[in-house]
Amino acid sequence: MKDLYADIDYVLIDEEKMQARINELAQMIDTDYGDSDNLLFLCILKGGYMFMSDLSRACKAPHVIDFMAVSSYGDSTTSSGAVQIALDLKSSIEGWDVLIVEDIIDTGLTLSYLLENLKARKPKSLKICSLLSKPVRHKVEIPIDYLGFEVPDEFVVGYGLDFAQLYRNLPFIAVLKPEVFS
Ligand code: 5GP
Repeated sequence: MKDLYADIDYVLIDEEKMQARINELAQMIDTDYGDSDNLLFLCILKGGYMFMSDLSRACKAPHVIDFMAVSSYGDSTTSSGAVQIALDLKSSIEGWDVLIVEDIIDTGLTLSYLLENLKARKPKSLKICSLLSKPVRHKVEIPIDYLGFEVPDEFVVGYGLDFAQLYRNLPFIAVLKPEVFS
């Protein structure tokens, strides 16, 4: 069996730190959306699935969940810039308070496209909750309403984030050894 742990260079954000921050985010979201009757957590696949699962469990505010899948890095570690919706919502979001749950904002190009696309569907409100952000890489300005952690300009894996579709199941955020990429 391939040992995923053997490929790790170092852990950037451990499980304890992650869960503590997710609980803080959940409290903010509960406060802000306490009066909402139509709250939708919109998870961006695949990378957002683990964050969504923990965030949803940590939130007390009643909410429904849905998923969208957009094109991302494929097997490489550099953004193509092109965005394609591979899986779309089946229901209307008109009149809903939509909270986008995303894994990481790197260049911001994916979310910038998604925001425009979703705004056109007339939600009551549209906010972003991202586990990670790489500020030095941003190419467009994205209003991040709830942010877990800022990370340096490193390609990170774990907790939903992949390299070549692997490492998503690691329960922390880590940086891989350079030889893994070659
Ligand atoms: P952006 O459009 O902001 O450049 O990034 C879009 C997507 O690229 C993210 O949602 C994520 O799936 C992927 N991505 C960006 N940076 C990283 C990274 O450091 N590690 C991994 N595994 N994926 C990343």
